[in-house]
Amino acid sequence: MHRLGDDAARTGDGAISRLWSLTRRPDLRGALAEVQFHRLSRQAPILYALLTINTLLTAYAAKGHVPRILWLHVPALLVTIFVARMMVWLSRLGQDAPAERIGPQLRRTVLTARALSLMCGAWGLALLETSDAVHSQFVPMFIAMGSFASAYCLSVLPAAAFSSIFLATLPVCIALILSGERTQIAIGLDFLIIAMLILRLIGDQFGQLVKEVAAQTRTRRLAYYDQLTGLPNRRAFIELLDARVEARRGDRAGFAVAMFDLDGFKPINDSYGHAAGDQILAQLARRLSLLAEPSHVVARLGGDEFAILLHDITEEAAARAICERFVRALDAPFQLARSQIRLSGSLGLALHPHGGNSASELIARADQALYRAKALSGGQVALFSPAMEEALRRQIAIEQALRDIGNPPDIRIVFQPILGLSGKRIVAVEALARWNHPELGPLNPAEFIQIAEQTGIIVSLTEALFERAIAEAACWSGDVHLSFNLSAVQLRSASTPATLMAVMDRYGFDPRRLEIEVTETAVLTDLEAARQIFDALRARGIRIVLDDFGAGYASIFYLKEIMFDAIKIDGDLVASITATHRSRALLEGILQLCAATGLEATAEKVETKDQLALLDRLGCSRVQGYLIGRPMDSDAIGRILAETIPSTDRIARLPFFR
Ligand code: C2E
Ligand code: CA
Ligand code: CA
Repeated sequence: MHRLGDDAARTGDGAISRLWSLTRRPDLRGALAEVQFHRLSRQAPILYALLTINTLLTAYAAKGHVPRILWLHVPALLVTIFVARMMVWLSRLGQDAPAERIGPQLRRTVLTARALSLMCGAWGLALLETSDAVHSQFVPMFIAMGSFASAYCLSVLPAAAFSSIFLATLPVCIALILSGERTQIAIGLDFLIIAMLILRLIGDQFGQLVKEVAAQTRTRRLAYYDQLTGLPNRRAFIELLDARVEARRGDRAGFAVAMFDLDGFKPINDSYGHAAGDQILAQLARRLSLLAEPSHVVARLGGDEFAILLHDITEEAAARAICERFVRALDAPFQLARSQIRLSGSLGLALHPHGGNSASELIARADQALYRAKALSGGQVALFSPAMEEALRRQIAIEQALRDIGNPPDIRIVFQPILGLSGKRIVAVEALARWNHPELGPLNPAEFIQIAEQTGIIVSLTEALFERAIAEAACWSGDVHLSFNLSAVQLRSASTPATLMAVMDRYGFDPRRLEIEVTETAVLTDLEAARQIFDALRARGIRIVLDDFGAGYASIFYLKEIMFDAIKIDGDLVASITATHRSRALLEGILQLCAATGLEATAEKVETKDQLALLDRLGCSRVQGYLIGRPMDSDAIGRILAETIPSTDRIARLPFFR
């Protein structure tokens, strides 16, 4: 799966490879090799310097006592090799070796150590053989020095250190012991003991090093890896993405960031428990990792939020196809101990560079796209687009403006008449919010009401709007009803009935003239809370109307669970009743349902006389729409009401009758 090291090798970029060595899955072996190499880089030049001095001193001592080849040619060759190796190591000092080159480099070092130990051992034996007993004392010295030097410098690489003992020291010790000469035997035995001690010393030191590295690895794993899934964490992902952006600056080759999130994970976590939630996340991590290509990086950013870095992506279509695969990873259910759970996941995608030119920008935009994918009903892939950015900017501007206004002077109310078909008179008026923003222009309530809900501003906003609507309605003549829309937030708040009552009391408005319009989705968020609020409102004579019936699920469930006084048939259905038989049949069915259950039905968005005639014939009780009257300001509605209510023939002034 996520092999960032390959990637670093491909780009050959130092920064990335350094970073990769930080964030890469820290397995002990790799981390150890890194430390070994690092320490060796510092020790090897010292070792070669010591060996050079040792060789020169030995040659100096042997000069004249052994054949010329042994005091001149062999040491000259050895010194040349030592100096050359020393230069190589010195030239590498301060450079970072890419992770994948470290292993082979260490193996080459062991081979070199073996070859050089063999040469030194053979030289020592030859010196012993050719020099007389008195002059051969320098040979054990030479060997001892070599052993100490390698033990000191090569303890990080036992394979190399051991070879210097076994291939150089040991043969000379054995030769000394076998010489038959008493002093030689004693020296040989002494050195044998020293060699054993050195072996032990190397072993101990190396053991210590392994422990140190293991502890470091654990710490690193905690800092860069998610404990539950074993995937890189947010920190690792961001650092890696930053390095990737840096490496690709000015380069055309593209990559993409995908944000993946489970749909509806929280309720599962709450109802099945966190252990089950953890199992799902671990299974999901495994599925995503299996689907990922070797160059992809799958990370868990937290909760049920995963991020995937896709490499070598230049086309939207290719990125999308890969992401569709990730989303389909959820087609199969998750297995829990005693049950199976089906979940979908949404994915947001941002392509570099047009989807952002920094890690935070790319992540934020992939997040925006994810938000969009979720809004599209979940289980989908959405690609970040400039239009999305524009929509988001607008949303933030609206949110800001809503916060600024506090008590909203810019937001006013318009009123749309609702005609009762039996008496052909205006029986109610719906209050609708309007906001003409100085910079953003006229804003659609469907847009700003939703934002006000998300930001919690809706509570104070509704209170202000309701008060204004009641202030106007209290001045109207007659008993015309005021219909007011409440949003989901108010249906969850137990204080809503008291707030509404207080306003009506203040203006002396009879609660029996108030109708409250609510949508199915608003009721759905907390059915029990909504039911209690409705009970409190109905106890004061306020009527409850189910709005937009036929737009959502139009479930009989709500009609059964909650005592509504009326329903409003959704405008989209009304628009097609004169065009298709199916819509007409549906409308008939809904009206029969209303008649059977004693619900009053209002058809909204009635725009043509044909629609009106049909609705009248089918027994619909009320109609609302541009045909009857557009939403208008309070003066206009006041005038119409003053004209129409006392005398039914003046109703002809309404557009519909003109
Ligand atoms: P709604 O409650 O379904 O309101 C009816 C919408 O249909 C209104 O849109 C109205 O202007 C429009 N409309 C009326 N007659 C016709 C017609 O003949 N043809 C067409 N095409 N449209 C017609 P508006 O005012 O844009 O309101 C949109 C939604 O915003 C409303 O839908 C309502 O849910 C919400 N809303 C408006 N004001 C408020 C408010 O003060 N509080 C809350 N919570 N929601 C509000
Ligand atoms: Ca409404
Ligand atoms: Ca409606």
